[in-house]
Amino acid sequence: MTLALLRVGEGWDIHALVPGRALVLGGVHIPHTAGLLGHSDADALLHAVTDSLLGAAGLGDIGTHFPDTDPAHAGADSRVLLQQAWGAVQAQGWRLANVDCTVVAQAPKLAGHIPAMRQSLAACLGLDVQAVNIKAKTAERMGPVGEGRAIEARAVCLLVQAPAL
Ligand code: MG
Repeated sequence: MTLALLRVGEGWDIHALVPGRALVLGGVHIPHTAGLLGHSDADALLHAVTDSLLGAAGLGDIGTHFPDTDPAHAGADSRVLLQQAWGAVQAQGWRLANVDCTVVAQAPKLAGHIPAMRQSLAACLGLDVQAVNIKAKTAERMGPVGEGRAIEARAVCLLVQAPAL
């Protein structure tokens, strides 16, 4: 079967925001009064990016590759999970043109952290920072995200067939 030249992938994630947890987004620790709840470090942004890559390559989803029932992933650094998934995608002959993300959080303000989050994500993927975009929005105080009870992230990526070696 011939591979398509291009593949698009979408990813989405949400985690509850609770006291007593560190807030990690895009692999960056962000000072806040609460953090995201999850089996791993609960980095919703990196989970969305991971799912977008796996989705584009037709490799399933993050829950299949890294089940939250596996004690090995307890407290896991999501950068490691992303890099493992990205390695599996690259092994299928894909390289990454770009990834574009949106983080939806009522608080804290993320704008000042976006440059560090872009650098961190680009470093994870071995990409130029210009190929990695992260946007931050609030939910206009509506729903669980807008009420400060959760943070949500979305990602879209474009895979390009790697040239034959
Ligand atoms: Mg997640």
